[in-house]
Amino acid sequence: MKLIFLGPPGAGKGTQAERIAERYEIAHISTGDMLRSEIRNATPLGAAAKAYIDRGELVPDDVIIGMVEKRIQAADCKNGFLLDGFPRTTAQADSLGKLTDIDAVVDIEVPFERLVARICGRRMCPDCGAAYHVSYHTADTCDRCGAKLYQRDDDREETVQNRLVVYEAKTAPLIAYYEERDTLIKIDGDQAIDSVTDSIVKGLSK
Ligand code: ADP
Ligand code: AMP
Repeated sequence: MKLIFLGPPGAGKGTQAERIAERYEIAHISTGDMLRSEIRNATPLGAAAKAYIDRGELVPDDVIIGMVEKRIQAADCKNGFLLDGFPRTTAQADSLGKLTDIDAVVDIEVPFERLVARICGRRMCPDCGAAYHVSYHTADTCDRCGAKLYQRDDDREETVQNRLVVYEAKTAPLIAYYEERDTLIKIDGDQAIDSVTDSIVKGLSK
């Protein structure tokens, strides 16, 4: 099974992707996580990406496409994969279409006015990548591995506004793009986390 999760920053793609990838035993590929890992490891790719991420801009297509092309050939993708945060532009979608077929595209929809609070309240585990929200997780450590949680630099309000503008301009057009080409499943992401998961599983089983 090969899936794409679309949706604005803060829609819950990472939260749901983790659950769905585990359920269907497919690889969870988050381009944002991959880039943050490159930055942590101080690689040339990480250095090139950091300035874009810090400004809330997209990393250039050729960098991202090369990274994903290599990643989907890895052994853990033999059962399939779930792309979280990719593609984000029409050029990325066109390149992906040349590399592989996709079984379904899940678009997680959340009212725009909810997104800033979701993103600014997000806290991440540096070790396992789990995301929490300050509204329901008051401890500053990860439930799973005990690591101290941190706030992503690009989750501060100054950067978030630009990320939402960039999403509208560059990524939202992919909803119509996939509606014309593939199976697009629209999910109401403005429900409790477990209910969103149930809706996705129901949508995929059809
Ligand atoms: P994305 O990967 O789309 O940017 P995340 O999965 O990281 O989004 O979720 C963004 C924030 O919103 C996190 O703090 C997460 O805990 C929280 N969140 C995710 N899903 C929901 C939900 N259904 N209701 C409320 N908060 C949620
Ligand atoms: P995310 O973790 O998905 O919120 O992504 C964090 C940041 O990484 C984005 O704001 C972009 O700067 C960069 N990024 C992640 N995925 C992509 C992509 N597919 N294309 C371009 N930039 C990306």
